[in-house]
Amino acid sequence: MNILVTGGAGYIGSHTCILLIEAGYSIVVFDNFSNSSIESIKRVEKIVNQSIPVVEGDIRSTKDLEKVFNEYKIDAVIHFAGLKAVGESVDKPLKYYDNNVTGTINLCEVMSKYGCKSIVFSSSATVYGNPASNPITEYFPVGQGITNPYGRSKYIIEEILRDVFISDNSWKIVLLRYFNPVGAYKSGTIGEDPSDIPNNLMPFISQTAVGKREYLNVFGDDYDTPDGTGVRDYIHVMDLADGHVKAIDKIKSFDKVMTINLGTGNGYSVLDMVKAFEKASGKKIPYKIAPRRDGDIAMCYANPSYAKEVLDWSATRGLDEMCEDSWRWQSQNPNGYRG
Ligand code: NAD
Ligand code: UDP
Repeated sequence: MNILVTGGAGYIGSHTCILLIEAGYSIVVFDNFSNSSIESIKRVEKIVNQSIPVVEGDIRSTKDLEKVFNEYKIDAVIHFAGLKAVGESVDKPLKYYDNNVTGTINLCEVMSKYGCKSIVFSSSATVYGNPASNPITEYFPVGQGITNPYGRSKYIIEEILRDVFISDNSWKIVLLRYFNPVGAYKSGTIGEDPSDIPNNLMPFISQTAVGKREYLNVFGDDYDTPDGTGVRDYIHVMDLADGHVKAIDKIKSFDKVMTINLGTGNGYSVLDMVKAFEKASGKKIPYKIAPRRDGDIAMCYANPSYAKEVLDWSATRGLDEMCEDSWRWQSQNPNGYRG
């Protein structure tokens, strides 16, 4: 089976490429490198000891996509390509809707034209907005209380894909709602490489540990959580990658749009993360309590039992391993892929 991996050079995509190849799938990576570099794929090639076809192109370009579909017989698509910086999406909403929503519509049109109707889409727990309670099941309401265009673009794409299925039941669609991906491949040769000051907690902590940032701002210590700081469901990127392989393994047998949480079911606070990272790295992480960040919620963690039921998937890596693997990547590559 030949899988097109859009956004395959990015953080989650590059890790997923390893497991797809190890599971025996052929892959083609499609990326415009707007938030990644070819170096990640070169490193994946070393890990899997084989070359990987890469097509540089933009999902908004029919011409770019048709080039791939003309050259390769694609059986299914894992669609990671998208912009993901929450703050930037508030400043540049049209850029986000164009890239994420228009890009996905274009991708589906080309897939349909070439008779490829199986897609696994990278959605996000952000579609749940501020959940009424935790843990969050897939039946919780979505779309309400999303605080930024990035999150809304994910919600809109989910709705579009549901409509595509309603119009043509031969589509096979899996919406994977990720919680908070962290960690890196064991060897420390690939990992998360933010191009700017990190927005997310884990890369900010690891850059503080390696000396690139002076201290961490902890956004709020007065939430209704055990220690007052925000609680999230951090999931190792290799567990997340494995969830995609399981989705591809099963996709042909699904007869409805499958919506699946990928999380661990555990919630950790910002200060839990700081402590765990200090333990893994042996470094002190200086931090200051700062005001709450606009749009943040107190707590968000998954009920992952549906993933277990339908994909026979569950996360196996704990917090220590997430921090150790992030640290190995960060300490071996203080400047990411830029050397
Ligand atoms: P990433 O930025 O590392 O990877 C995305 C990749 O898509 C990059 O390589 C980028 O160059 C590429 N891309 C972006 N726009 C493109 C376009 N128009 N055409 C072709 N390629 C394009 O991000 P990631 O963390 O690997 O996330 C992958 C997907 O998962 C994204 O859709 C993201 O929104 C979603 N997601 C991520 C998280 C997270 O915390 N990392 C959480 C939930 C959902
Ligand atoms: N956070 C923080 N300092 C930072 C980045 C994040 O205190 O520099 C907190 C944030 O307020 C939230 C948690 O860490 O409670 C996870 O934030 P992240 O941006 O990584 O993920 P998301 O908000 O998407 O869940």
